Amino acid sequence: MRHWIIKLYKKANDKGFALGAFNFSTNEILKGIVDAAVKLKAPIIIETSEGERNFFGLEESVAVYHAIKKKYPHVILHADHTKSFEEIKRIIAAGYPSVHFDGSKLSFRHNIRETKRAAEYAHAHDVFIEGELGGIVGGSTMHKKSLKDVLTKDIMTDPEQAKEFVELTGIDSLAISIGNAHGIWKDKPKLDFERLKAIAKATGKFLVLHGGSGISASDFRKAISLGINKININTEMRVAYAHALLKGLHNREDYVPYHYLKDVSAAVSKVVEEKIIIFKAENKI
Ligand SMILES: [Zn+2]
Repeated sequence: MRHWIIKLYKKANDKGFALGAFNFSTNEILKGIVDAAVKLKAPIIIETSEGERNFFGLEESVAVYHAIKKKYPHVILHADHTKSFEEIKRIIAAGYPSVHFDGSKLSFRHNIRETKRAAEYAHAHDVFIEGELGGIVGGSTMHKKSLKDVLTKDIMTDPEQAKEFVELTGIDSLAISIGNAHGIWKDKPKLDFERLKAIAKATGKFLVLHGGSGISASDFRKAISLGINKININTEMRVAYAHALLKGLHNREDYVPYHYLKDVSAAVSKVVEEKIIIFKAENKI
């Protein structure tokens, strides 16, 4: 499966689009994501963080992924922000074809050691692996603070370190910190495009942008043109989901879940469709 995933990233890189990676923790969210991908004929990544997959169920997420793949093969299931080797083993055993090992909280040398270990294990099991260098602050929610107060230059990815990191770990793709952050903040994120350019040149690897919620369409397009191949979106869908659910429950005419939940999936779909179009991923299957 790893080879097929690499081919898909390469296609995105060659054709100048980015793979949207959308998080899910409920079936309504997943349905919203997949409906959007099918409608726009876009290859897509569906992903779960540790909290999300513990809620949805690890085996359950793999089973649903296989069911989706039978009807729409242009999907990758990915494990987002996995912070220990034990968790990597658990995920791969469950059948995830793609994982993200996040050692960004470790020291540079420790991150290299742990990521290399995870990469060797993943590759031995034919699994694609994303590493991370530099800090990506915040959780996928609405924040009360300003981004400029928490984002400092020293947590951003250094191009020279990134080169060494990808060479020594053997990872397939790299998540970077260039002014992006998880969640939606009081101020808009300001991406450091010069840094992105330098990282792309130094590493020659597929690059991943986390914290896509709140970044403008023009900044996304520019980031893609400079080497971003995968973009993670979560918070905007979570907000759309919660608002639609509240409204649906408030306005419901009966107690039939699929009567008031279909608008919830549609609200998530709308966010995903917008992103797919911005990422130029439509009609790329
Ligand atoms: Zn992330």
